[in-house]
Amino acid sequence: MTLEGRKALVTGGASGIGAACATALAARGAKVVVADVDAAGAAALADTLGGTAWAVDLLDTEALAGLSLDCDILVNNAGIQKVAPIEEFEPADFRRIMTLMLEAPFLLIRAALPHMYANGFGRIINISSVHGLRASPFKSAYVSAKHGLEGLSKVTALEGGQHGVTSNCINPGYVRTPLVEKQIADQALLHDIPESEVLAKVMLTESAVKRLVEPEEVASLAAWIASDDAGMVTGASYTMDGGWSAR
Ligand code: NAD
Repeated sequence: MTLEGRKALVTGGASGIGAACATALAARGAKVVVADVDAAGAAALADTLGGTAWAVDLLDTEALAGLSLDCDILVNNAGIQKVAPIEEFEPADFRRIMTLMLEAPFLLIRAALPHMYANGFGRIINISSVHGLRASPFKSAYVSAKHGLEGLSKVTALEGGQHGVTSNCINPGYVRTPLVEKQIADQALLHDIPESEVLAKVMLTESAVKRLVEPEEVASLAAWIASDDAGMVTGASYTMDGGWSAR
């Protein structure tokens, strides 16, 4: 499972799942670029990993469109969340989420494929969600972007297969990250219950394992998908949700 000699780029790498992925890939020998709009966070993690930071706003699609990326492993991970009924969902927020979580991954894949094709090796790892496969009310943009990412991932798999490039999605349930910690706090306020009850009564009711996924668990699956061992794994979507979607 060594990734020695591989170059990896992880978007949203300064926090949560992205930081865990960057750390796991670096631990297996990859040279990692931590890409994030949080320049200080990206620089701090890159320093500890002996990697490089890329301070980038992935909403700047014009800049991404002209890019050429020299990397072997691309982890499309950066994401944001907004929860509101459709009739109250601001169109600008819908566009922002679609841009960050669908158009930016498309542009980065587009920028990375020529190098990957030339090398005969590439790994596109798209951090999707259980919401890439199943819907949930009040998350119209998030669910739409993640469903779109599933399609993009499969098309990339079909086009890249004969060039040694695989493309897969990872579909986590609730993962213990700043994004989810904020959701827990918001739900506690909304329902006027303690945060522990949000976990037990709202988030984990359908989980078989009855705990949040840890970012490192997602990262270790990403590291395996990135490895030479996983060359026949492509066009797939890996659910990691403690049994939530088995119901
Ligand atoms: P997080 O908030 O901890 O990290 C997201 C990172 O993305 C941050 O470092 C942030 O600065 C960066 N980012 C946001 N906007 C950006 C922009 N415009 N340009 C560049 N970087 C930007 O979130 P997380 O929980 O680690 O989520 C990471 C991914 O995992 C997301 O795509 C999310 O949808 C997905 N996911 C998360 C969970 C969960 O429960 N946490 C579950 C399923 C899927």
